[in-house]
Amino acid sequence: MIGGSEGLRPELLERTMLALADVREPQAVLSAAARLLERETGRPCSVLSPDDARMRDGRGGPQSAGLVRDASGVILTAVIDGEVRAAFALGGGDVSEPDAVVLRLVAGQISVAFSNALAFDQLRQHAVEGAALVEAARTILGFTELKPLAESLSAMAQRFFHAERSVLYGRAGDELHAVGSAALPGAGPMPARLPLDAAGVERKLAEGPQPRNVALAPLRLPGHHDGERSGLLAVLRAAPFDRADQRLLDALVTLAALAIRNVELYEQSTRANRALAESNAFKDDLMAMFAHDFKGPLTVISGYAELLLEDGLEGERRSAVETILGQVGRLAKLSEDALALAATQSAGFSLSRARDDLADLVGEAVRDSDAGSGRIALEAPAGPLVVPFDRTRLRHALDNVLANALKYSSGPVEVRLAERDGEALIEVRDRGIGIPAAELERIFTRFGRASNARAKRFAGTGVGLYIARKIVEVHGGRLTVASLEGEGSTFTIGLPL
Ligand code: ADP
Repeated sequence: MIGGSEGLRPELLERTMLALADVREPQAVLSAAARLLERETGRPCSVLSPDDARMRDGRGGPQSAGLVRDASGVILTAVIDGEVRAAFALGGGDVSEPDAVVLRLVAGQISVAFSNALAFDQLRQHAVEGAALVEAARTILGFTELKPLAESLSAMAQRFFHAERSVLYGRAGDELHAVGSAALPGAGPMPARLPLDAAGVERKLAEGPQPRNVALAPLRLPGHHDGERSGLLAVLRAAPFDRADQRLLDALVTLAALAIRNVELYEQSTRANRALAESNAFKDDLMAMFAHDFKGPLTVISGYAELLLEDGLEGERRSAVETILGQVGRLAKLSEDALALAATQSAGFSLSRARDDLADLVGEAVRDSDAGSGRIALEAPAGPLVVPFDRTRLRHALDNVLANALKYSSGPVEVRLAERDGEALIEVRDRGIGIPAAELERIFTRFGRASNARAKRFAGTGVGLYIARKIVEVHGGRLTVASLEGEGSTFTIGLPL
C-alpha cells in the first residue's frame, strides 16, 4: 500500500492532469511527472533514458501496458501510437493491485500530456522553420548576380543550422565546385570539389575530419541537365542533424533554385535589353547621318532649280522645275523631321533656350507656311510676348502643326496667340477632316496616324506630331488637340510663362 493507509486515491488522476496541463516542453513534462509521482507515492522516481533496457519489456518488444512490475519497483511507461516514448522507474518494491490500477491511469494521463507537448514542440519548430524560410525568401530572391547570391545563401545556411561551415557547390562540367561558403573560425574543412554522383560525394566526405556531421541537399534547376544535380548545399557541424533540419535544408535549396532561376532570367533580359539598346542606337545614328547628309545635295538641287526659274523658263518646263522644287522641299522637311526624331530619341535631348519674343516667332512661321496663299489668318496681341524658348526647335514644332492644318484641310486656317492663366497659348484651328475621337492620343505617338488620314491617302509619316509634342514638353509645356471628325481640329501649344 502506498500513499498512506488508503493507498492512492483516484483524485491523483485529476491532480496529474492539472499539474501537466500547462507544461509545453516534452522534457519538462517528464520531469514534472517524475516530481509529482515522487510526491504522491513517497517513493523515488526517475525518468529513464531512451536507451535504457527497461524501456522494453522482458520479451524485447516495446512496452504495451502503462505499468510493468520490476524487481526494484515498477516501470511506468508513456505509450504514444503504440510506441513507448518515455518511461519512469518508481522504486520501493512492488505496489498493490488497486495502486497499480491508479498508476496505470496516471501513466495514461502522462502519455497524453507528453504527446501534446511533442505536438506543440513540432508546431513551434514549424513556425521557426516558416520564419526562417520567409527571411530566406526575402533575402535571396532579390539577387541579380550569382556570386553574391551563393555567398548569402551559404551564410544563411550556416546561421540557420548553427553550422561550423556551409558550402554551396555548383556544377562545373563533370564535377561540383564550391561557389559560395561561410564558416566560423576554426571550422572543419570541406573539399573544394566533389564528384557529381551521390555515392562519390559520400565517399569523399568520409575522408574528411571526424567526428563531424554533414547534411546535404541537392540543388536541381528546372531545365538544367534534365533534372540532374546542378549543385549541392552542404552544412557541417558537430551536432547531429534531425529530420526537421533536413526538411529546412531541402526547403532552403528549393528556394535557392528559384533564386538562381531569377538571376538567370534577369541576365537574359539584360542581355536582350542591351542588344536592343545597341541596335536602337545604331538605327538612330544611321538615321541622323542620312538626314544630315541629305541636306547638302538638297540645297544644291533647289539652288539650281531656282536659278532655272529665274532664267525665265516657260510652260511645261517651268511647271516641271516647280514640281522639282516642291518635291525637294518635301524631302528637306522629311530629313529635318528625321534629324529631330533622332535627336529626341537620344538620352541627352536638350534645348538651348533664350528669352525671346514668341509673337515674332509665330508671325514668321505663319508667313513662311502661308507662302502667300492667304489661307492662314493670324490674331496676336499688339506687343511682344517674351518667354524662354529654343527658337529652332519650337519653330520646328509649330511648322509641323501648321503644315498639318494646311494638309488636312482645304479651307482657311486660324492661328491665335494669347496669354491665359500663366501660359502663352498658340492655337491652330482648321476646318478639315478632323480626327476620330478614339484616335486623339494615337496621333502623338511615333509613326501614329489616324485612320481617316490613311483612308483618304494623305501622304505622311506620322512623326511630325510626335516630335512637336516632345519639343513642347521639353519646354515644360503641352501640346493638345480638340477635334471632331469631319469638322476640323484645333491644336494648342501651351508654354509656361
Ligand atoms: P503625318 O506625317 O502623318 O501628318 P503627324 O505626326 O504630323 O504625321 O500627324 C499624325 C496624324 O495626325 C496624321 O497622320 C493625321 O492622321 C493626324 N492629324 C494631324 N494633324 C491633323 C489635322 N490638322 N487634321 C486632321 N488630322 C490631323
